[in-house]
Amino acid sequence: MKYDVIIIGAGPGGIFTAYEIVGLNPGLKIAVFEAGGRLDERKCPIDGDKIKNCIHCKTCSIMSGFGGAGAFSDGKYNITNDFGGTLYEHVGRKEAISLMEYVDKINLEHGGEGTKLYTTAGTDIKKICMQNKLKLLDASVRHLGTDINYIVLENLYEDLSDKVDFFFHSPVEKVEKTDTGYRISVKDTSYDCDKCVISVGRSGSKWMESVCEDLSIPTKSNRVDLGVRVELAADLFSHLTDKLYESKIVYRTEKFEDQVRTFCMNPHGSVVEENTNGIVTVNGHSYEDPAKQTDNTNFALLVAKHFSEPFKDSNGYGESIAKLSNMLGGGVIVQRFGDLVRGRRSTHKRIEENFVIPTLMAEPGDISLVLPKRILDGIIEMIYALDKIAPGTANDDTLLYGVEVKFYNMEAEVDENLESCHKGLYIIGDGSGVTHSLSHASASGVHVARVMCEKEGTR
Ligand SMILES: Cc1cc2nc3c(=O)[nH]c(=O)nc-3n(C[C@H](O)[C@H](O)[C@H](O)COP(=O)(O)OP(=O)(O)OC[C@H]3O[C@@H](n4cnc5c(N)ncnc54)[C@H](O)[C@@H]3O)c2cc1C
Repeated sequence: MKYDVIIIGAGPGGIFTAYEIVGLNPGLKIAVFEAGGRLDERKCPIDGDKIKNCIHCKTCSIMSGFGGAGAFSDGKYNITNDFGGTLYEHVGRKEAISLMEYVDKINLEHGGEGTKLYTTAGTDIKKICMQNKLKLLDASVRHLGTDINYIVLENLYEDLSDKVDFFFHSPVEKVEKTDTGYRISVKDTSYDCDKCVISVGRSGSKWMESVCEDLSIPTKSNRVDLGVRVELAADLFSHLTDKLYESKIVYRTEKFEDQVRTFCMNPHGSVVEENTNGIVTVNGHSYEDPAKQTDNTNFALLVAKHFSEPFKDSNGYGESIAKLSNMLGGGVIVQRFGDLVRGRRSTHKRIEENFVIPTLMAEPGDISLVLPKRILDGIIEMIYALDKIAPGTANDDTLLYGVEVKFYNMEAEVDENLESCHKGLYIIGDGSGVTHSLSHASASGVHVARVMCEKEGTR
């Protein structure tokens, strides 16, 4: 079977590639291959009742399927070059922002209208942070919320389903070069195309590495972010979250001069488990619908660990630490901040008596047995720094869930068109290592679609 363009992965990167090509050149024959299922098929078996913990499904419904890892996410589209990826290094700062604004417009047209756009511009929070040795990063954040994000995806699928051939439950096994383009293999069938866009996200990171190896695409990898997810009473952070929704705050530790940053803030949200290649880590999300909101706010505190030669396996390092927490707690561990600083584990009794009621059933334990001292010291320092701008953050009852790991895909070498060393083979989204967010991944899809249709004049 022959297509003009084959897209591998139906996450935001793949979806926006398809969307933009269809708009620019409706005559092109496009196929999207996705390891997971349709949006309506995606159901995580954890029901909190019969199944309380991750049972390691063959394909994780949280990470895979139409909508990708972003489908059940909080739908926070950050429009910024300050975090979320380095797309700007390839397309330029102005163009990167313009692409993200375009994605925002499409999301609004597909059900996101009426959702709030928060911005750091003109707030006094930046000054308060600076006065307390904290740095607030600049951004505009469109918060769709998990429920509206889902509706936007439903509408995008409806828009695309009669114009694009979607192949679900179809993990691509191999990508090969042919005389005229590329051949992909799925189960026992192969499909040919002129151009191929690989957008396999974090869940496809291992597979992506094998593709780069097979096709001799140069890669580099040297970073992993490690830390915890903090959960506290939403009222303590409301002066920040009401104005900014998500604040990205950075702190430089006094002890080691490491940078610790807040990440993925979920006002009135829930802490959730995340399964990446069988390793259970922690994450968080929140709903726009008030009926689904909680009394808590959660966010991650992460420390970036960069490695230098000869060590190359930064993700392996992060996985080993996550595995250690899985070994001790059978999954995610939860600990009261008061217990951590007193050097004792949390117990079921202490968690039951805690003022902050956990939104995730995790095993009470001791995070200091898992995280390296340097990282844990940085997190504790940052909690005390945040306590100055949001008093109560360092309360004994603040909950810490571990571990949160942000794996960075190895970065595949791509040019300003996000094209690899092989003409017509594009690598985009989180799977490329260039992006780490919904907005950047989606924007990278729009960019390659335009490159293919406009600059190169694919018919
Ligand atoms: C719980 C959670 C909450 C998040 N919240 C936010 C947020 O609020 N804001 C934000 O900016 N980011 C958030 N993120 C991150 C965001 O979801 C990702 O940055 C984004 O989805 C990346 O898009 P992508 O298209 O590059 O990859 P993905 O969304 O990961 O999509 C890749 C797709 O490719 C498929 N695939 C993988 N390998 C193959 C293969 N061999 N063959 C076929 N298909 C394959 C996968 O099944 C997947 O569906 C969150 C992530 C999680 C897990």
